[in-house]
Amino acid sequence: MEQPTNRTPERAMIIVAHPDDGEYMAAGTLAKWAKAGTEVTYVLCTSGDKGTSDPEIKPEELAATREIEQQNAANVVGAKNVEFLRYEDGILQNTLELRKDIVRQIRKHRPDAIFCQDPMRRYGDSFINHPDHRAAGEAVLDAVFPSARDYHVYPDLIEEGYMPHNTLQVYMGTFGFGDPGNVWVDISDTIDTKIDALMEHKSQVGTDEERLKTMRERIKETAAQVGATHAMGHAEGFKYIKLR
Ligand SMILES: [Zn+2]
Repeated sequence: MEQPTNRTPERAMIIVAHPDDGEYMAAGTLAKWAKAGTEVTYVLCTSGDKGTSDPEIKPEELAATREIEQQNAANVVGAKNVEFLRYEDGILQNTLELRKDIVRQIRKHRPDAIFCQDPMRRYGDSFINHPDHRAAGEAVLDAVFPSARDYHVYPDLIEEGYMPHNTLQVYMGTFGFGDPGNVWVDISDTIDTKIDALMEHKSQVGTDEERLKTMRERIKETAAQVGATHAMGHAEGFKYIKLR
């Protein structure tokens, strides 16, 4: 397959279920592209309001904290925009409402490339994929084709000023899933930026220095493993769809 990532798009959008999903999956690539001039937009379906085992922390407080963390992470990556759809964490579903909200963002920011989660990823040898990840991925694919493209799907969005937009490149994240991708991006220059961005999610990664060090090493190792099979130092892999 042609490696499309040699050319950086003018505008890229990443649409994920939770704060930190985007950093884990694609921050190396997005930071690399942002440096080269790509306008990057993050869209968060939920604000991760269930991401704690501490019963004292209220979901709405956690959501507010995690939105700030996500904004900080996006700043590290060099993204221009961050949009929050504020669906409830943990029970995300691929509803028509979610699809429409995603279409609105696609039509607003008009990306050439969209990054999302792989809805086909159900489980691996040692994990079950979060149902929100599958729901978000499914909703994004349904939004890209054909709803964002077709004029008559949402007359009310047309009235709001959101004209149809056809995004032809879709990248589904594979980072941490072994290496089931079909395109790979060399992120040797931005692996540290990826990790720094991930570390902005302080409510999730904590403050224990030893633990943070181990996490940094683990991410680096995963990126090195992906890179090793494709003659790259560090890499992120994606399942890539090129629509015609
Ligand atoms: Zn997640």
